[in-house]
Amino acid sequence: MLNPATEEPIAELEQAGVEETDAAVARAREALPGWRRVAPADRARLLRRLATLVEEHAEELSLIESQNVGKPISGARGEVGMVAQVFHFYAGAVDKHYGQTIPVAGGVAATFREPLGVVGLIVPWNFPLNITSWKVGPALACGNTIVLKPAELTPLSALRLGELALDAGIPDGVFNVLVGKGSLVGQRLIEHPDVAKIGFTGSTEVGRKVMQGAAGTIKRVTLELGGKSANVIFADADLEKAATAAPYAVFDNAGQDCCARSRILVQKQVYDQFLDYLIEATRGVKVGDPRDEATEMGPLISAQHRETVASFLTDDVHLAFRGEAPEGPGFWFPCTLVEATNDDRVAREEVFGPVAAIIPFDDEADAVRIANDTPYGLSGSIWTRDGARALRVTRALDVGVLSVNSNSSVRVSTPFGGFKQSGFGRELGMQALDGYSEVKNVFISTDG
Ligand code: NDP
Repeated sequence: MLNPATEEPIAELEQAGVEETDAAVARAREALPGWRRVAPADRARLLRRLATLVEEHAEELSLIESQNVGKPISGARGEVGMVAQVFHFYAGAVDKHYGQTIPVAGGVAATFREPLGVVGLIVPWNFPLNITSWKVGPALACGNTIVLKPAELTPLSALRLGELALDAGIPDGVFNVLVGKGSLVGQRLIEHPDVAKIGFTGSTEVGRKVMQGAAGTIKRVTLELGGKSANVIFADADLEKAATAAPYAVFDNAGQDCCARSRILVQKQVYDQFLDYLIEATRGVKVGDPRDEATEMGPLISAQHRETVASFLTDDVHLAFRGEAPEGPGFWFPCTLVEATNDDRVAREEVFGPVAAIIPFDDEADAVRIANDTPYGLSGSIWTRDGARALRVTRALDVGVLSVNSNSSVRVSTPFGGFKQSGFGRELGMQALDGYSEVKNVFISTDG
């Protein structure tokens, strides 16, 4: 493992293979009956304790995350704060995940929420601990046991969380962490007959493999995949406010964010004015040492990923602005604004780096057409002072998570997930519990 800001090694870990994966699944299977039996209030207490331990170790976890991913320390602290909130939320949800009674002839029908069993969780490198908690929280709350595979590049925070789970009193075997390759450990989890579900976040390409592999055992899957989200700026919006916020909606986490609003759609009559504001705001993004409290953007995750990002900036691309980034070691890439059409590669594919495509549009219908003209459907923003338009456009966009006059749409208590090739199933909120439980319907006769 390297620190992406310095290219210096920070840890060397043994890699698990198929044998270790099978052993972890066996441990999780053995722990399942006991964990299912834990009374709801006690399961809630254990999750609450884990949340508190995350709070108590927040600085340590933030430093791990910052060093392993190259994240600015301030951002890492915010993410770890959310991790604790996620465990608090699902601690509170354990005994509020109700079934129903349904009026039927001759008796009563009642539904129960049963755990799925052993669930495999496969997590990417961009928000390692955050995305882990979004899966671990509801999975444990519903009474499942888990085998977690963090990304090869960023396993350190997940390993520490596994230790904290034991410290919290979560029984041995309930929360297993495996460090290893996706093509080995991940693939084995997908195919393993004793794994009931895969919760996956990552690329659409690997998401496809998860679905294919899961078909063999009719595994449940939740897929949270890529995005190419639109930030739609209407002429009647508060342009300065929208432009000031826009860089952080795409350059946050160095653009390595599935929700990145990486297509900025601007109504033609205000295009030039908005672009001026946007360039000014982008110039202000502080890129540099992740340890510095003031830093807003760090490096990319790896040299290989930097090459992929750079491949979007071919000679025919119309650069509107390129910021500055440190020289020397580290996988640095400057904030980059490109004037584009929606047919250009930079507007069609997920760059997953600090590159935004600015695209003009004519009117509301044109904005909706362009925004929806993508295989993805994860996130997006609409900026307008016209409330009716805001509602019309939000309803017309084929995406799972939207914000109006804001770029903030991820919250612990609200559902998160995509339409189209951004995946399916919902994380966060009470909705996530649906993905980690089965509904059982029981008819009880009242015949004498
Ligand atoms: P991947 O989809 O390859 O990796 C995500 C997770 O899946 C990792 O834990 C990875 O393990 C695992 N994995 C990889 N191959 C398999 C497999 N065959 N079976 C099971 N699990 C597997 O994403 P990358 O990290 O390679 O990033 C590539 C691109 O994906 C990015 O540039 C970006 O466009 C997109 N992406 C989207 C994310 C999102 O939040 N939606 C997050 C990350 C990436 P390992 O680390 O060992 O490869």
